[in-house]
Amino acid sequence: MLFSKSLIPILKNNPSEAKIKSHQLMLRTGMIKQSSAGIYSWLPLGFKIMKKIENIVREEQNKILAQEILMPTIQSSEIWKESGRFDDYGEEMLRIKDRQNREMLYGPTNEELVTDIFRSSVKSYKSLPQLVYHIQWKFRDELRPRFGVMRCREFFMKDAYSFDLTDNDAFFSYNKFFLSYLRTFKRLELSAIPMAADTGPIGGNLSHEFIILAETGESKIYTDKDIFDVNFQDTSLDKSSLESLRKKYDHYYSVTDEKYNEVDFNSNVKKENQLITKGIEVGHIFYFGDKYSKPMQASVDINGKKEYVKMGSYGIGVSRLVGAIIEAKYDDKNELMCWPTKIAPYHCAIIPLINKNDKSSLDKAMNISKVLKNNKIDTIIDDTDESLSAKMKKFNLIGIPFQIILGKKSEGELIEFKKVGDDIQKIDLKEIIKIINKEL
Ligand code: ATP
Ligand code: MG
Repeated sequence: MLFSKSLIPILKNNPSEAKIKSHQLMLRTGMIKQSSAGIYSWLPLGFKIMKKIENIVREEQNKILAQEILMPTIQSSEIWKESGRFDDYGEEMLRIKDRQNREMLYGPTNEELVTDIFRSSVKSYKSLPQLVYHIQWKFRDELRPRFGVMRCREFFMKDAYSFDLTDNDAFFSYNKFFLSYLRTFKRLELSAIPMAADTGPIGGNLSHEFIILAETGESKIYTDKDIFDVNFQDTSLDKSSLESLRKKYDHYYSVTDEKYNEVDFNSNVKKENQLITKGIEVGHIFYFGDKYSKPMQASVDINGKKEYVKMGSYGIGVSRLVGAIIEAKYDDKNELMCWPTKIAPYHCAIIPLINKNDKSSLDKAMNISKVLKNNKIDTIIDDTDESLSAKMKKFNLIGIPFQIILGKKSEGELIEFKKVGDDIQKIDLKEIIKIINKEL
Protein backbone atom coordinates (compact mmCIF):
# COMPACT_ATOMS: atom_id res chain seq x y z
CA MET A 1 0.00 0.00 0.00
CA LEU A 2 1.20 3.49 -0.85
CA PHE A 3 0.72 6.01 1.92
CA SER A 4 -0.39 8.70 -0.54
CA LYS A 5 -3.27 6.48 -1.69
CA SER A 6 -4.35 5.33 1.78
CA LEU A 7 -7.22 6.65 3.88
CA ILE A 8 -5.20 7.42 6.98
CA PRO A 9 -6.25 10.91 8.05
CA ILE A 10 -3.57 11.77 10.63
CA LEU A 11 -4.24 14.84 12.79
CA LYS A 12 -1.48 17.28 13.74
CA ASN A 13 -2.45 17.36 17.42
CA ASN A 14 -4.28 15.26 19.95
CA PRO A 15 -8.01 16.03 19.76
CA SER A 16 -9.04 17.89 22.90
CA GLU A 17 -12.16 15.80 23.55
CA ALA A 18 -10.09 12.66 24.15
CA LYS A 19 -9.06 12.14 27.76
CA ILE A 20 -7.14 8.86 27.63
CA LYS A 21 -4.24 7.71 25.50
CA SER A 22 -6.07 5.11 23.44
CA HIS A 23 -8.85 7.50 22.52
CA GLN A 24 -6.36 10.25 21.61
CA LEU A 25 -4.21 7.96 19.54
CA MET A 26 -7.04 6.26 17.71
CA LEU A 27 -8.51 9.61 16.64
CA ARG A 28 -5.12 11.17 15.97
CA THR A 29 -3.96 8.39 13.66
CA GLY A 30 -7.30 8.14 11.89
CA MET A 31 -8.19 4.64 13.08
CA ILE A 32 -11.74 5.63 13.90
CA LYS A 33 -14.07 8.54 13.34
CA GLN A 34 -16.93 9.37 15.63
CA SER A 35 -20.27 9.56 13.86
CA SER A 36 -22.37 10.33 16.95
CA ALA A 37 -21.91 9.93 20.70
CA GLY A 38 -20.46 6.48 21.37
CA ILE A 39 -20.81 5.40 17.72
CA TYR A 40 -17.78 5.15 15.44
CA SER A 41 -16.79 4.36 11.90
CA TRP A 42 -13.71 2.18 11.62
CA LEU A 43 -11.24 3.48 9.05
CA PRO A 44 -8.67 1.20 7.38
CA LEU A 45 -5.98 1.29 10.10
CA GLY A 46 -8.34 0.63 12.99
CA PHE A 47 -10.40 -1.84 11.00
CA LYS A 48 -7.36 -3.93 10.06
CA ILE A 49 -6.33 -4.17 13.71
CA MET A 50 -9.82 -5.09 14.87
CA LYS A 51 -10.15 -7.78 12.17
CA LYS A 52 -6.85 -9.34 13.19
CA ILE A 53 -7.94 -9.41 16.84
CA GLU A 54 -11.26 -10.90 15.77
CA ASN A 55 -9.46 -13.65 13.94
CA ILE A 56 -7.34 -14.62 16.93
CA VAL A 57 -10.49 -14.68 19.07
CA ARG A 58 -12.18 -16.88 16.42
CA GLU A 59 -9.27 -19.33 16.18
CA GLU A 60 -9.26 -19.84 19.94
CA GLN A 61 -13.03 -20.44 19.99
CA ASN A 62 -12.67 -22.99 17.21
CA LYS A 63 -9.95 -24.77 19.19
CA ILE A 64 -12.45 -25.64 21.93
CA LEU A 65 -14.86 -26.81 19.21
CA ALA A 66 -17.28 -23.94 19.57
CA GLN A 67 -19.27 -23.56 16.33
CA GLU A 68 -19.49 -20.18 14.65
CA ILE A 69 -22.92 -18.81 13.75
CA LEU A 70 -24.19 -15.32 12.98
CA MET A 71 -27.31 -13.95 14.62
CA PRO A 72 -28.87 -10.66 13.54
CA THR A 73 -28.39 -7.34 15.31
CA ILE A 74 -32.13 -6.60 15.27
CA GLN A 75 -34.28 -8.83 17.46
CA SER A 76 -37.98 -9.19 18.16
CA SER A 77 -39.21 -8.15 21.62
CA GLU A 78 -41.27 -11.38 21.88
CA ILE A 79 -38.43 -13.60 23.08
CA TRP A 80 -37.30 -10.96 25.58
CA LYS A 81 -40.81 -10.91 27.01
CA GLU A 82 -40.62 -14.69 27.41
CA SER A 83 -37.45 -14.46 29.48
CA GLY A 84 -38.76 -11.49 31.42
CA ARG A 85 -35.86 -9.22 30.45
CA PHE A 86 -37.74 -6.90 28.10
CA ASP A 87 -38.73 -4.69 31.03
CA ASP A 88 -35.78 -5.56 33.29
CA TYR A 89 -33.11 -4.44 30.83
CA GLY A 90 -34.19 -0.83 31.14
CA GLU A 91 -32.98 2.18 29.22
CA GLU A 92 -29.75 0.61 27.97
CA MET A 93 -31.82 -1.25 25.40
CA LEU A 94 -32.50 0.56 22.14
CA ARG A 95 -36.11 -0.14 21.26
CA ILE A 96 -37.42 0.31 17.73
CA LYS A 97 -40.83 -0.07 16.05
CA ASP A 98 -41.10 -1.41 12.51
CA ARG A 99 -43.72 -0.23 9.97
CA GLN A 100 -46.15 -2.89 11.23
CA ASN A 101 -45.80 -1.31 14.67
CA ARG A 102 -44.04 -4.40 15.97
CA GLU A 103 -41.64 -3.87 18.87
CA MET A 104 -38.07 -4.65 17.87
CA LEU A 105 -34.74 -3.96 19.53
CA TYR A 106 -31.06 -3.69 18.67
CA GLY A 107 -29.50 -6.62 20.56
CA PRO A 108 -27.41 -5.71 23.62
CA THR A 109 -26.67 -9.45 24.06
CA ASN A 110 -28.08 -12.71 22.66
CA GLU A 111 -29.11 -15.16 25.41
CA GLU A 112 -32.77 -15.12 24.31
CA LEU A 113 -32.11 -15.42 20.58
CA VAL A 114 -29.69 -18.29 20.95
CA THR A 115 -32.04 -20.09 23.35
CA ASP A 116 -34.78 -19.74 20.74
CA ILE A 117 -32.48 -21.27 18.10
CA PHE A 118 -31.57 -24.09 20.45
CA ARG A 119 -35.13 -25.01 21.44
CA SER A 120 -36.25 -25.33 17.85
CA SER A 121 -33.16 -27.21 16.65
CA VAL A 122 -32.00 -29.59 19.37
CA LYS A 123 -34.24 -32.28 20.82
CA SER A 124 -32.02 -35.01 22.19
CA TYR A 125 -29.56 -35.01 25.06
CA LYS A 126 -27.25 -36.90 22.70
CA SER A 127 -26.60 -33.63 20.84
CA LEU A 128 -25.13 -32.06 23.95
CA PRO A 129 -22.94 -30.25 24.70
CA GLN A 130 -23.61 -27.49 22.17
CA LEU A 131 -21.12 -24.63 22.15
CA VAL A 132 -21.86 -21.80 19.71
CA TYR A 133 -20.54 -18.31 19.22
CA HIS A 134 -20.89 -15.32 16.98
CA ILE A 135 -18.98 -12.10 16.49
CA GLN A 136 -21.45 -9.32 15.95
CA TRP A 137 -22.24 -5.67 16.71
CA LYS A 138 -24.12 -4.91 19.92
CA PHE A 139 -25.89 -1.78 21.01
CA ARG A 140 -26.21 -0.58 24.60
CA ASP A 141 -27.46 2.92 25.19
CA GLU A 142 -24.80 3.63 27.81
CA LEU A 143 -25.57 6.60 30.04
CA ARG A 144 -22.06 8.00 29.63
CA PRO A 145 -20.32 6.70 26.52
CA ARG A 146 -16.67 7.72 26.85
CA PHE A 147 -13.04 6.87 26.26
CA GLY A 148 -13.61 6.14 22.58
CA VAL A 149 -14.02 2.47 21.78
CA MET A 150 -13.64 1.48 25.43
CA ARG A 151 -17.19 2.40 26.40
CA CYS A 152 -19.27 3.05 23.35
CA ARG A 153 -22.88 2.48 22.49
CA GLU A 154 -22.31 0.39 19.39
CA PHE A 155 -19.50 -2.13 19.85
CA PHE A 156 -18.21 -5.38 18.41
CA MET A 157 -18.41 -8.39 20.68
CA LYS A 158 -17.73 -12.09 20.54
CA ASP A 159 -20.43 -13.83 22.51
CA ALA A 160 -20.60 -17.57 23.00
CA TYR A 161 -23.21 -19.79 24.60
CA SER A 162 -23.09 -23.30 26.04
CA PHE A 163 -25.89 -25.83 26.49
CA ASP A 164 -25.46 -28.91 28.70
CA LEU A 165 -27.54 -31.55 30.40
CA THR A 166 -26.23 -31.25 33.97
CA ASP A 167 -24.55 -28.65 36.15
CA ASN A 168 -21.45 -30.77 36.16
CA ASP A 169 -21.26 -30.91 32.35
CA ALA A 170 -21.95 -27.17 32.22
CA PHE A 171 -18.97 -26.46 34.50
CA PHE A 172 -16.83 -28.43 32.06
CA SER A 173 -18.01 -26.15 29.22
CA TYR A 174 -17.43 -23.09 31.43
CA ASN A 175 -13.88 -24.22 32.10
CA LYS A 176 -13.17 -24.72 28.39
CA PHE A 177 -14.03 -21.08 27.79
CA PHE A 178 -12.01 -20.11 30.86
CA LEU A 179 -8.90 -21.67 29.30
CA SER A 180 -9.65 -20.37 25.81
CA TYR A 181 -9.84 -16.83 27.22
CA LEU A 182 -6.46 -17.15 28.91
CA ARG A 183 -5.01 -18.38 25.61
CA THR A 184 -6.69 -15.65 23.55
CA PHE A 185 -5.39 -12.80 25.68
CA LYS A 186 -1.93 -14.34 25.82
CA ARG A 187 -1.80 -14.43 22.00
CA LEU A 188 -2.68 -10.74 22.05
CA GLU A 189 0.34 -10.26 24.33
CA LEU A 190 -1.88 -9.23 27.23
CA SER A 191 -1.77 -10.53 30.72
CA ALA A 192 -5.45 -10.89 31.66
CA ILE A 193 -6.38 -12.10 35.13
CA PRO A 194 -9.63 -13.91 35.82
CA MET A 195 -11.51 -12.36 38.74
CA ALA A 196 -14.59 -13.46 40.60
CA ALA A 197 -17.35 -11.14 39.45
CA ASP A 198 -20.95 -10.11 39.86
CA THR A 199 -23.33 -11.36 37.22
CA GLY A 200 -25.35 -8.15 36.62
CA PRO A 201 -28.33 -8.26 34.23
CA ILE A 202 -27.15 -11.56 32.65
CA GLY A 203 -27.95 -13.32 35.97
CA GLY A 204 -26.68 -16.58 37.50
CA ASN A 205 -24.27 -17.41 40.26
CA LEU A 206 -20.84 -18.17 38.80
CA SER A 207 -18.89 -15.60 36.87
CA HIS A 208 -15.37 -14.41 36.09
CA GLU A 209 -14.24 -11.17 34.55
CA PHE A 210 -10.95 -11.10 32.64
CA ILE A 211 -9.13 -7.92 33.48
CA ILE A 212 -5.94 -6.37 32.16
CA LEU A 213 -4.07 -3.92 34.34
CA ALA A 214 -4.16 -0.28 33.22
CA GLU A 215 -4.25 2.95 35.18
CA THR A 216 -7.06 4.25 32.99
CA GLY A 217 -9.27 1.19 33.58
CA GLU A 218 -12.74 1.64 35.00
CA SER A 219 -12.64 -1.38 37.34
CA LYS A 220 -10.87 -1.18 40.69
CA ILE A 221 -9.24 -4.51 41.47
CA TYR A 222 -7.85 -6.26 44.54
CA THR A 223 -5.60 -9.17 43.85
CA ASP A 224 -2.71 -11.36 44.89
CA LYS A 225 0.44 -10.73 42.85
CA ASP A 226 1.15 -14.47 42.67
CA ILE A 227 -1.86 -15.00 40.41
CA PHE A 228 0.24 -13.70 37.50
CA ASP A 229 2.53 -16.71 37.84
CA VAL A 230 -0.12 -19.38 37.34
CA ASN A 231 0.90 -21.44 34.33
CA PHE A 232 -1.96 -22.39 32.01
CA GLN A 233 0.00 -22.96 28.79
CA ASP A 234 0.20 -26.74 28.99
CA THR A 235 -3.33 -27.36 30.22
CA SER A 236 -5.18 -29.87 28.09
CA LEU A 237 -8.88 -29.77 27.38
CA ASP A 238 -9.97 -32.74 29.51
CA LYS A 239 -12.28 -32.30 32.47
CA SER A 240 -9.84 -32.91 35.28
CA SER A 241 -7.01 -30.76 33.88
CA LEU A 242 -9.44 -27.90 33.45
CA GLU A 243 -10.82 -28.34 36.96
CA SER A 244 -7.38 -28.20 38.45
CA LEU A 245 -6.56 -25.08 36.44
CA ARG A 246 -9.69 -23.39 37.78
CA LYS A 247 -8.71 -24.42 41.31
CA LYS A 248 -5.27 -22.88 40.86
CA TYR A 249 -6.79 -19.54 39.92
CA ASP A 250 -9.68 -19.61 42.40
CA HIS A 251 -7.15 -20.27 45.17
CA TYR A 252 -6.09 -16.62 44.92
CA TYR A 253 -8.22 -13.79 46.25
CA SER A 254 -8.79 -11.68 43.16
CA VAL A 255 -11.90 -9.52 42.80
CA THR A 256 -13.26 -6.26 41.42
CA ASP A 257 -14.68 -3.63 43.79
CA GLU A 258 -18.23 -5.00 43.47
CA LYS A 259 -17.11 -8.15 45.30
CA TYR A 260 -14.39 -6.62 47.46
CA ASN A 261 -14.37 -7.25 51.20
CA GLU A 262 -11.54 -5.76 53.24
CA VAL A 263 -11.50 -8.44 55.93
CA ASP A 264 -11.37 -11.26 53.37
CA PHE A 265 -8.65 -9.50 51.38
CA ASN A 266 -6.43 -9.03 54.43
CA SER A 267 -6.92 -12.53 55.73
CA ASN A 268 -6.33 -14.17 52.31
CA VAL A 269 -3.47 -12.12 50.88
CA LYS A 270 -0.15 -11.40 52.58
CA LYS A 271 0.53 -7.65 52.86
CA GLU A 272 3.52 -7.76 50.51
CA ASN A 273 1.46 -9.58 47.88
CA GLN A 274 -1.51 -7.25 47.91
CA LEU A 275 -2.05 -5.42 44.65
CA ILE A 276 -4.74 -2.75 44.54
CA THR A 277 -4.97 -1.12 41.15
CA LYS A 278 -7.18 -0.48 38.17
CA GLY A 279 -8.01 -2.61 35.20
CA ILE A 280 -9.98 -2.92 31.99
CA GLU A 281 -12.55 -5.67 31.61
CA VAL A 282 -11.90 -7.38 28.29
CA GLY A 283 -13.94 -10.52 28.80
CA HIS A 284 -16.68 -11.86 31.04
CA ILE A 285 -18.00 -15.40 31.46
CA PHE A 286 -21.19 -16.50 33.23
CA TYR A 287 -22.87 -19.69 34.33
CA PHE A 288 -26.59 -19.31 34.92
CA GLY A 289 -28.13 -22.81 34.75
CA ASP A 290 -31.75 -22.74 33.59
CA LYS A 291 -32.35 -18.99 33.99
CA TYR A 292 -33.35 -18.73 30.31
CA SER A 293 -34.05 -22.33 29.36
CA LYS A 294 -36.82 -22.70 31.94
CA PRO A 295 -38.98 -19.68 31.08
CA MET A 296 -38.28 -20.21 27.37
CA GLN A 297 -38.91 -23.98 27.54
CA ALA A 298 -35.60 -25.09 26.07
CA SER A 299 -35.31 -28.72 27.04
CA VAL A 300 -34.03 -32.08 25.81
CA ASP A 301 -35.54 -35.53 26.18
CA ILE A 302 -33.78 -37.99 28.43
CA ASN A 303 -35.43 -41.33 29.21
CA GLY A 304 -38.82 -39.91 28.26
CA LYS A 305 -38.39 -36.95 30.62
CA LYS A 306 -37.92 -33.29 29.74
CA GLU A 307 -34.83 -31.66 31.20
CA TYR A 308 -34.17 -27.92 30.94
CA VAL A 309 -30.69 -27.36 29.58
CA LYS A 310 -28.00 -25.68 31.68
CA MET A 311 -26.50 -22.65 30.03
CA GLY A 312 -23.57 -20.29 30.22
CA SER A 313 -22.54 -17.25 28.19
CA TYR A 314 -19.11 -15.90 27.38
CA GLY A 315 -18.26 -12.43 26.04
CA ILE A 316 -15.12 -10.75 24.72
CA GLY A 317 -15.10 -7.06 23.82
CA VAL A 318 -13.37 -7.25 20.43
CA SER A 319 -13.62 -3.52 19.64
CA ARG A 320 -12.77 -2.57 23.25
CA LEU A 321 -9.60 -4.68 22.93
CA VAL A 322 -8.20 -2.31 20.30
CA GLY A 323 -8.22 0.53 22.85
CA ALA A 324 -7.28 -1.74 25.75
CA ILE A 325 -4.14 -2.93 23.96
CA ILE A 326 -3.02 0.69 23.51
CA GLU A 327 -3.65 1.40 27.19
CA ALA A 328 -1.65 -1.66 28.20
CA LYS A 329 1.21 -1.21 25.72
CA TYR A 330 1.74 2.54 25.41
CA ASP A 331 5.15 3.59 26.68
CA ASP A 332 4.50 6.98 28.33
CA LYS A 333 8.13 7.74 29.06
CA ASN A 334 9.27 7.48 25.46
CA GLU A 335 5.86 8.33 24.02
CA LEU A 336 5.91 5.21 21.89
CA MET A 337 3.28 2.76 20.82
CA CYS A 338 4.04 -0.55 19.20
CA TRP A 339 1.34 -3.00 18.13
CA PRO A 340 2.09 -6.68 18.64
CA THR A 341 3.31 -7.64 15.15
CA LYS A 342 0.54 -10.25 14.71
CA ILE A 343 -2.17 -7.60 14.88
CA ALA A 344 -0.35 -4.53 13.56
CA PRO A 345 -2.15 -2.90 10.60
CA TYR A 346 1.09 -3.27 8.62
CA HIS A 347 4.08 -5.28 9.78
CA CYS A 348 6.65 -2.92 8.33
CA ALA A 349 6.78 0.65 7.00
CA ILE A 350 9.13 1.29 4.08
CA ILE A 351 10.41 4.83 4.17
CA PRO A 352 12.22 5.99 1.02
CA LEU A 353 13.74 9.42 0.66
CA ILE A 354 11.80 10.88 -2.25
CA ASN A 355 13.50 13.32 -4.57
CA LYS A 356 11.72 15.17 -7.34
CA ASN A 357 14.30 14.13 -9.93
CA ASP A 358 15.27 10.78 -8.56
CA LYS A 359 12.67 8.08 -8.05
CA SER A 360 15.19 5.28 -7.57
CA SER A 361 14.58 4.83 -3.87
CA LEU A 362 10.81 4.57 -4.48
CA ASP A 363 11.53 1.85 -7.06
CA LYS A 364 13.72 0.11 -4.53
CA ALA A 365 10.92 0.38 -1.93
CA MET A 366 8.48 -1.23 -4.38
CA ASN A 367 10.85 -4.11 -5.02
CA ILE A 368 11.48 -4.70 -1.32
CA SER A 369 7.74 -4.58 -0.67
CA LYS A 370 7.20 -7.33 -3.27
CA VAL A 371 9.85 -9.56 -1.73
CA LEU A 372 8.39 -9.03 1.74
CA LYS A 373 4.88 -9.76 0.49
CA ASN A 374 6.08 -13.10 -0.86
CA ASN A 375 7.26 -13.80 2.67
CA LYS A 376 3.84 -12.92 4.19
CA ILE A 377 5.02 -9.54 5.44
CA ASP A 378 2.59 -6.71 4.88
CA THR A 379 4.08 -3.27 4.18
CA ILE A 380 3.10 0.34 3.67
CA ILE A 381 5.40 2.52 1.54
CA ASP A 382 5.57 6.18 2.44
CA ASP A 383 5.79 7.79 -1.00
CA THR A 384 5.12 11.33 0.25
CA ASP A 385 7.81 14.00 0.00
CA GLU A 386 8.12 14.56 3.75
CA SER A 387 11.56 14.31 5.34
CA LEU A 388 12.81 10.93 6.52
CA SER A 389 12.57 11.95 10.16
CA ALA A 390 8.99 13.23 9.77
CA LYS A 391 8.03 9.93 8.18
CA MET A 392 9.72 7.91 10.92
CA LYS A 393 7.86 9.93 13.55
CA LYS A 394 4.57 9.28 11.79
CA PHE A 395 5.03 5.51 11.86
CA ASN A 396 6.19 5.64 15.48
CA LEU A 397 2.92 7.38 16.25
CA ILE A 398 0.88 4.75 14.43
CA GLY A 399 2.87 2.00 16.12
CA ILE A 400 3.99 0.04 13.04
CA PRO A 401 6.47 -2.39 14.63
CA PHE A 402 9.24 -2.28 11.99
CA GLN A 403 10.68 0.36 9.67
CA ILE A 404 12.98 0.09 6.65
CA ILE A 405 14.67 3.40 5.86
CA LEU A 406 15.91 3.95 2.32
CA GLY A 407 18.01 7.07 2.60
CA LYS A 408 21.57 7.75 1.59
CA LYS A 409 22.84 5.31 4.21
CA SER A 410 21.09 2.25 2.75
CA GLU A 411 23.51 1.21 0.04
CA GLY A 412 23.92 -2.02 -1.85
CA GLU A 413 22.77 -5.05 0.09
CA LEU A 414 22.75 -3.38 3.49
CA ILE A 415 19.53 -1.65 4.48
CA GLU A 416 18.73 0.56 7.44
CA PHE A 417 16.18 -1.23 9.59
CA LYS A 418 14.70 -0.70 13.03
CA LYS A 419 12.12 -1.97 15.43
CA VAL A 420 10.09 0.76 17.12
CA GLY A 421 11.99 1.88 20.21
CA ASP A 422 15.29 0.23 19.17
CA ASP A 423 18.32 1.64 17.36
CA ILE A 424 18.78 1.49 13.60
CA GLN A 425 20.85 -1.43 12.32
CA LYS A 426 22.23 -2.10 8.85
CA ILE A 427 21.39 -5.60 7.64
CA ASP A 428 20.37 -7.38 4.47
CA LEU A 429 16.85 -8.22 3.40
CA LYS A 430 17.13 -11.91 4.28
CA GLU A 431 17.98 -10.99 7.86
CA ILE A 432 15.06 -8.52 7.98
CA ILE A 433 12.62 -11.20 6.82
CA LYS A 434 13.90 -13.55 9.50
CA ILE A 435 13.48 -10.96 12.27
CA ILE A 436 9.93 -10.00 11.28
CA ASN A 437 8.79 -13.55 10.64
CA LYS A 438 9.87 -14.57 14.13
CA GLU A 439 7.11 -12.33 15.49
CA LEU A 440 4.33 -13.54 13.21
P1 ATP B 1 -18.94 -3.29 31.70
O1 ATP B 1 -18.91 -3.78 33.12
O2 ATP B 1 -17.63 -2.77 31.21
O3 ATP B 1 -20.10 -2.36 31.43
P2 ATP B 1 -20.53 -5.51 30.99
O4 ATP B 1 -20.33 -6.34 32.19
O5 ATP B 1 -21.75 -4.73 30.86
O6 ATP B 1 -19.26 -4.54 30.80
P3 ATP B 1 -20.66 -7.87 29.36
O7 ATP B 1 -22.13 -7.99 29.21
O8 ATP B 1 -19.95 -8.78 30.25
O9 ATP B 1 -20.29 -6.36 29.69
O10 ATP B 1 -20.02 -7.86 27.88
C1 ATP B 1 -18.90 -8.64 27.48
C2 ATP B 1 -17.74 -7.77 27.05
O11 ATP B 1 -18.13 -6.76 26.12
C3 ATP B 1 -17.14 -6.96 28.21
O12 ATP B 1 -16.22 -7.73 28.93
C4 ATP B 1 -16.47 -5.81 27.48
O13 ATP B 1 -15.18 -6.20 27.05
C5 ATP B 1 -17.37 -5.59 26.27
N1 ATP B 1 -18.25 -4.42 26.48
C6 ATP B 1 -19.32 -4.33 27.29
N2 ATP B 1 -19.89 -3.12 27.23
C7 ATP B 1 -19.15 -2.40 26.33
C8 ATP B 1 -19.23 -1.07 25.82
N3 ATP B 1 -20.19 -0.24 26.21
N4 ATP B 1 -18.30 -0.67 24.92
C9 ATP B 1 -17.33 -1.51 24.50
N5 ATP B 1 -17.21 -2.77 24.95
C10 ATP B 1 -18.10 -3.23 25.86
MG1 MG C 1 -19.11 -7.29 33.01
